[in-house]
Amino acid sequence: MSDADLLSPKRTVSTRTRKTVVYKEESDAEELDVITSKTVTKKAATTTRKRKPIDSDAELEASGDDEDTKKPITIKKTVAVATAKKQKTTTTTAAAAKPKAAPKAKVPKVPTASTMTSTFARAASKMLIGAHVSIAKGVQNSITNASTIGANSFALFLKNQRKWSSPAMPVSDAATFRKLCEEKNYNPKTQILPHGSYLINLATPTAEKQKQAYDCFVDDLKRCEELGIGLYNFHPGSTLGEPRPEALKRISDALNKAHKETKFVKTVVENMVGAGNVVGSSFEDLRDILEGVEDKSRVGICLDTCHMFAAGHDIRTKEKYEEVMGNFDRIVGRKYLCAIHLNDSKGPFESKKDLHQNIGQGYIGLEAFRVLMNDTRLEGLPIVLETPTNEDPTVWAKEIKLLESLVGMKGDEEEFLKMAEELQAKGEGERERVGAVVAKGKAKAAKTAKTPAKKGGRKKKVESDDEDSEGSGCSH
Ligand SMILES: [Zn+2]
Ligand SMILES: [Zn+2]
Repeated sequence: MSDADLLSPKRTVSTRTRKTVVYKEESDAEELDVITSKTVTKKAATTTRKRKPIDSDAELEASGDDEDTKKPITIKKTVAVATAKKQKTTTTTAAAAKPKAAPKAKVPKVPTASTMTSTFARAASKMLIGAHVSIAKGVQNSITNASTIGANSFALFLKNQRKWSSPAMPVSDAATFRKLCEEKNYNPKTQILPHGSYLINLATPTAEKQKQAYDCFVDDLKRCEELGIGLYNFHPGSTLGEPRPEALKRISDALNKAHKETKFVKTVVENMVGAGNVVGSSFEDLRDILEGVEDKSRVGICLDTCHMFAAGHDIRTKEKYEEVMGNFDRIVGRKYLCAIHLNDSKGPFESKKDLHQNIGQGYIGLEAFRVLMNDTRLEGLPIVLETPTNEDPTVWAKEIKLLESLVGMKGDEEEFLKMAEELQAKGEGERERVGAVVAKGKAKAAKTAKTPAKKGGRKKKVESDDEDSEGSGCSH
């Protein structure tokens, strides 16, 4: 983290063509309570889909991975890529694990392009750290984008994550993807974790909407199988105010049907922050979904650290982390854990805000990530960063190296304490800002709860759509 200024706000991409807005896509709002935020381009802003700004704290979210605006990373120089698999028998792993000297901080000339002047070597770590990379110009580019930042695992979207239907994947793209997996030593069965479309809500009670969601879901699964990918991560969805047990059963039923229509891809449910009617923030929800699945070999769980924390699972210390993981094991079963999304949180504990922050800068803090990086039970699982980058993938490259450096590090080491303190200082302003928004929201909610509804007036729903959306910015 010597080149710390890369993570500073100065790195913000020019606002000439980019404006960050939290919005709610009206067409999707009735389907999902999930709130999305993303970086909206001029082009996107002129589309006919109505976008309604819902929060003045729009800039809270900067982790949107806008596939439309990203270009593949340009590689000018390649250093030796060492894979975890290969390095078991390699003696030069220590050198390979050392971070390549970071390129000088350089704002891309074109705001939509991500340009790196060199690649970061992949470490020999058994902890497969990676990031959610871009698929701009074809899914096959995700592999280069991942290897360039030294990722030993990665996530990607399989198509436009905000559209119901997308053109079929070109056969040549799929072939190149499979070939590059081999060339770059990524096992598509275990090291690649695609993220499902945001629109999919398998819990929806309406038959018509259920079909639309299911078709989009199965299309994703089939794309996975075409690419040889063994894992697929998705958000469980929302009850939309209907009874929870039935909603959870609808998810299990859809999974059962989808498993029969596909061959091998494992459907991996992600835990959520649980705003409003969104399911999957409690381990009990996850257990109930899995319980209804017939073929247990086709289902698993991905735990997102930001979502866990904001939902009320405290992982800030080793003791608390062990307690949470113990609960997970007891309620769901550790054997179902297939992947981790590694994010700090801009929102405070139990805030139900899905706002990802860079590692060590949020309310979770570096100690939790040190503990996690030393949990040998997570070895071999894809551990994927979904942290904000402002379109600079070197942010991920550096975070990967930072995380890998935590393996074997003790919590009372001077080096660690200094690093933890520096990162916390860097995120202080953002924590204060989001903390104030959350506190304001809570005070408002408490006041509303005390005020009786006007006679004949519309009674405020306890979990209104607005409540679901406020300040949220789920991007992954
Ligand atoms: Zn997600
Ligand atoms: Zn996630």
